[in-house]
Amino acid sequence: MFKIAVIAGDGIGTEVTSQAVRILKKASRILNEQFEFVELKAGGIAIDTFGKPLPDDTLKKALDSDAVVLGAVGGPKWDSLPYELKPEQALLGLRKGLELYANIRPAIMFDSLLESSSLKAEVVQGIDIVVVRELTGGIYFGRPAGIVEENGVRRGINTMTYTVPEIERIAHTAFKLARTRNKHVTSVDKANILHTSMLWREVVNAVQKEMYPDINLDHMYVDNASMQLVRRPKHFDVLLTENLFGDILSDEASMLTGSIGMLPSASIGESHALYEPVHGSAPDIAGKGIANPIASILSAAMLLEYSIKQKELAKKIFHAVESVLNEGYRTADLSSAGAKTLTTDEMGAKIESAF
Ligand code: NAD
Repeated sequence: MFKIAVIAGDGIGTEVTSQAVRILKKASRILNEQFEFVELKAGGIAIDTFGKPLPDDTLKKALDSDAVVLGAVGGPKWDSLPYELKPEQALLGLRKGLELYANIRPAIMFDSLLESSSLKAEVVQGIDIVVVRELTGGIYFGRPAGIVEENGVRRGINTMTYTVPEIERIAHTAFKLARTRNKHVTSVDKANILHTSMLWREVVNAVQKEMYPDINLDHMYVDNASMQLVRRPKHFDVLLTENLFGDILSDEASMLTGSIGMLPSASIGESHALYEPVHGSAPDIAGKGIANPIASILSAAMLLEYSIKQKELAKKIFHAVESVLNEGYRTADLSSAGAKTLTTDEMGAKIESAF
């Protein structure tokens, strides 16, 4: 029995996650394999119920599961809480607790949504990029960090740090992924300035030379990479980078393809994995039943691909999404003249019946 922890969270998190679960239930019927769904609370709803964003029981049961499906957390109701109590702390706690060091974000262009991109169709048509971002190291976690006062002057401090094993494991993730795709990794750093980047480049080169000679590896400075992503995005297959650069570049890459409601992600560690849409809890549309569930559904497809090794079934879900879009069905965020606008639930049902 494959155990899936379901943390729907807040706002549209609950609405889109139920559509991902609907797709996973169909997948379990197709595979003739039983999935057990364990519903857990985190984020604002956990603060309201238990007084903290990530209850111990939620983390424990997430650790006990084979994969986690997350919706989104947060909302204006909890914005004024102190930093340690904010719903978003649940995300950091889960990433840390489950040791999810690799964040994988695909950016795929659907032909039927070419018009939704802010770039010209000929630049973005056929984009199929995966950003592999290191998630538990770098400047977000390095110490010392804080705001100090010296001689009456306040100073903010963050420390960017990477160890060789941290770089090696994320490099392996990227190279292995490239092997299942077009065998091309672009490693992004700032090795002309930063010592962490010099080490990063050295280690990535060594890993490739030793174990992945079949993979074509190139390097790009982060400033150039941010330019090339909008200039000639089709250069990229797997984009490997560290935490801070990845935070920025993955948003840039994903927005090439249109609405935020379309973008899935996987966060993977040695023994745990969490799948979630890139978007947040969208308080402006929560409760209206109009959220786009596709990001969440594609995250479920990533679960099938990475945690259950059912790549073909994952592909079928992707093609089901594509065919529903080709038929002109849209949720409100993608709607244009002539489109058939569906609710969240209707879109989930259409995709379910198309695979
Ligand atoms: P957001 O992603 O929630 O919303 C940004 C805009 O995109 C909004 O206009 C929203 O309506 C729209 N949008 C987002 N997802 C959509 C979908 N599936 N379908 C249709 N439209 C969609 O970002 P925000 O407004 O900056 O943040 C709102 C809350 O979510 C905040 O509390 C924030 O901290 C939290 N947040 C959580 C996560 C997470 O749980 N992983 C990620 C980002 C933001």
